[in-house]
Amino acid sequence: MDKDVVAQIRQAVDEQRLVDTAMKLIAVPSPTRSAGAVADCLAQILDADGFTVERPVADWPEAPAVAVRFDSGRPGRVLQFDGHLDTVHLPFVPPRHEQGCLYGSGSSDMKGGIAAFVEALRVLRDTDALRGGGILLTAHDHHEGPWGDRRQLYALIREGYTGDAVMLPEYLADRLPVAGRGMGIFEVRIRRDGVPVHEVLQPAGNPDVLGAGAQLVVSCQQLAKRLAHNTHEYAGCDTAFVGRIQSGEIYNQSPVECVVHGTRRWVTPGTIDAVRAEFDNLLQALAASRGVDIDFDFEVQGDAFSIDLEDPLVEAFQGAHTECTGAPLPLGCKPFVDDGNSFAQLAGIPALTHGPAATGAHTLSEQVPVPELVRVAQVYALTAVCYCSTAGA
Ligand SMILES: [Zn+2]
Repeated sequence: MDKDVVAQIRQAVDEQRLVDTAMKLIAVPSPTRSAGAVADCLAQILDADGFTVERPVADWPEAPAVAVRFDSGRPGRVLQFDGHLDTVHLPFVPPRHEQGCLYGSGSSDMKGGIAAFVEALRVLRDTDALRGGGILLTAHDHHEGPWGDRRQLYALIREGYTGDAVMLPEYLADRLPVAGRGMGIFEVRIRRDGVPVHEVLQPAGNPDVLGAGAQLVVSCQQLAKRLAHNTHEYAGCDTAFVGRIQSGEIYNQSPVECVVHGTRRWVTPGTIDAVRAEFDNLLQALAASRGVDIDFDFEVQGDAFSIDLEDPLVEAFQGAHTECTGAPLPLGCKPFVDDGNSFAQLAGIPALTHGPAATGAHTLSEQVPVPELVRVAQVYALTAVCYCSTAGA
């Protein structure tokens, strides 16, 4: 990477301007499905910076999304910076800037990261370092579950608010997440006809829903053993896990229902339907052998994720990270399902999750060190310089 450009970009990141942006965003409460006011706030900040701001409704009129396209005017790739403006439903904690750290709702997850990529966008414009291509900035609501169902992101993707690649500033800084498992939550309801009945008064052949539930737990354990052979170098292996089984009222009464609750995780992208069908087959066999009715919900949180290590985004990112910290990030797994999984699955574009080393996500004590936000702004801007300018230039 050109040393002058690196120095220029790194110096152009304005810590005070970045902190002000983060504080303004954190100051506006935005629990999932109520991110309208903070989206307005972000749009005003970007507008005041001189950017042309779009507000696509994207299937969520309560809080239209925010989008900015910045074009170098020269051929090249478009790198997208995408973030969610909503926060989990916990009591609001106002912003605080103390001893080099920012505190408050969303400071870690992910308003600090959004402020950092806004600063990266300003720097790219102010320095004219982007020699080709452009930036697409998007921010939206409806991310955090179970309150949101990601409809706004899905609509943005459908409506073409996608770049050639995307970066997402979730709180993950110690590895480059090149693969992650897909995940579905299952809730299986096993029922029999009739009413609860005393153990000794049961009719002959009365179906045993609790026994069927116990058998399902064992079947899941056996499935998990078989699945352990489905491995990925970075993502780990497929699993089936039961975390809860509920049935019965008292010790000598035959219940009518048993509910089994658990997760299924998988490493191979594009296999959601196969995973669901395999589980369905297992349940149908169980229902037939135990004479019970079974229905189940399988709520997919996201497909498995991976990025091609040869993708130019990976090289651009590692170069940028090395310039800012002295070393590339080790390759590793993405421990959670995030919007990057959706971009990879639905838009078919490479997605990298990288943000500040922040702590306390999904708690009342979120905090992010300001130097981390500065670093993320520098890494995003430098990644864009390297990634966007090379194609077709
Ligand atoms: Zn997040």
